[in-house]
This record gives sequence, structure tokens and C-alpha cells, in this order.
Amino acid sequence: MKIAILSDIHGNLEAFREVLRDLEIVQPDRVVCLGDAVGYGPDPEAVVRLLQAHRIPSVLGNHEWALAHPLHLEWFNPSARLSLEKTAELLSPEVRRTVTTWPTTLHVEGSLCVHGCPPNSVTRYLFEVVPEELPGLFSAYPEPLCFVGHTHQLRWVRWDGHQVTSGWIRGEVLELHPADRYIINVGAVGQPRDGDNRAKYVVWDTEARTVRVHRVPYDIAKTVEKILALGFPRINADRLW
Ligand code: ZN
Repeated sequence: MKIAILSDIHGNLEAFREVLRDLEIVQPDRVVCLGDAVGYGPDPEAVVRLLQAHRIPSVLGNHEWALAHPLHLEWFNPSARLSLEKTAELLSPEVRRTVTTWPTTLHVEGSLCVHGCPPNSVTRYLFEVVPEELPGLFSAYPEPLCFVGHTHQLRWVRWDGHQVTSGWIRGEVLELHPADRYIINVGAVGQPRDGDNRAKYVVWDTEARTVRVHRVPYDIAKTVEKILALGFPRINADRLW
């Protein structure tokens, strides 16, 4: 089975549309979204509608969580907060209700899907977990494979039962050792922060035991123009280049 895992679309419709085009070629058996479909970008409503149209389930991201808990907005830095206020204005009540009731975790073909950090954190970044903590983290849930988003980076963490190792996913394919457990950080569709401005997502091949990274170019200039026209913070646009 091929499972496509995408995360952090962040209202970037141009990036998401190109990813959907790429998925038409890949033809995965299932697609799942790891949250933060909204926030930062100019098209949160259209992105969520498109997820719904393609029947792509999603877990709750910290941006959706914040829409549900506006009193906790101080948790965000000032520009993220302004982005979220703008996002709230752009969402219909129906879509806002939908995204704020997404589940914290999903179980897909024996894997655990969560936005921030296993077993179920929406807000914790994987890079905040200190190495000594990782064995305990792996023992907190049973799934051999866990997919996370949130950092907008592409990374792997591996537990062989004795030792934790980790690294960046720089190439195209990550081979999974059958006896080991992994946390895979899948990168971002709509707000990459890994030094490569293309949209990213991964495809997990359950038989071949591989995770393949897809890097998809899209019309950045168009998204940038919309971000600035709507009065979102300039950094949301500058980060895309
Ligand atoms: Zn995010």
C-alpha cells in the first residue's frame, strides 16, 4: 500500500493544488493530512474545502487548535497571532467548526499520525525533545511508525530498542529497517522551512518499507501576491522564497 502523508498546507492553495496534481501521478491508496491546513496563507477556506472534496482526513494542528481556543493566542508570536486573526476572518463558520473538531491523532495502516509529537501532542515540536527523553517517548505508544508535521522540516528519528539515532531526510528515499521504530517529520506543503522552496510531502510504501519525499514546485509569486494583498504579515510571504 502507498500512503501519502502531507502536512502544514497553511492556506497555500497554489502549493496544495500542485501536490494534488502530483498525487494523481502517484495514485496512493490513502492520503492523510497532519494538520495546520490553515494559518499564514491566504486561502484557508479553499484549502479545507479541497481537503474535504478529496476526502483527505486530517488531525488537528496547533493553528486549528488556536482557532478553537482564541484565549490561548498569546502562545503564538505576534506575527503568527496576526495571521491567525486574519485566518479567522477568512473562514466560514462551517469550515471553522470542521477544522476545530479534527481529532488529535489518526491511526493509518498501523501508523500513528499526530501534528506535533507522539503520542498525542498538537503543540510540542519534535526538536524540543531532548535525546535522553526519546526512549521514553517511544515506549509511550505501540505503533512502529509515527508521522509528525509542525516543524516544517524533513527528519527521521529511529529507535532500535537500544539506541536512538536521527537525521535529516536530504535524499529522495528513506529505507525503513523492519525491526526498528521511526518518527518521520514529513516537511510542509505550504510553508517550507528546510531551505528548499518547493512543496513537500511523503509517500510511505508499506510493502517496500520506504518513505519517499516528493518535492513539488509551484507558483510562489502568486501566493506571495495574495498574502500581501490581504494584509498578512510580510514575513509569511518572504519565507516562501
Ligand atoms: Zn505549521
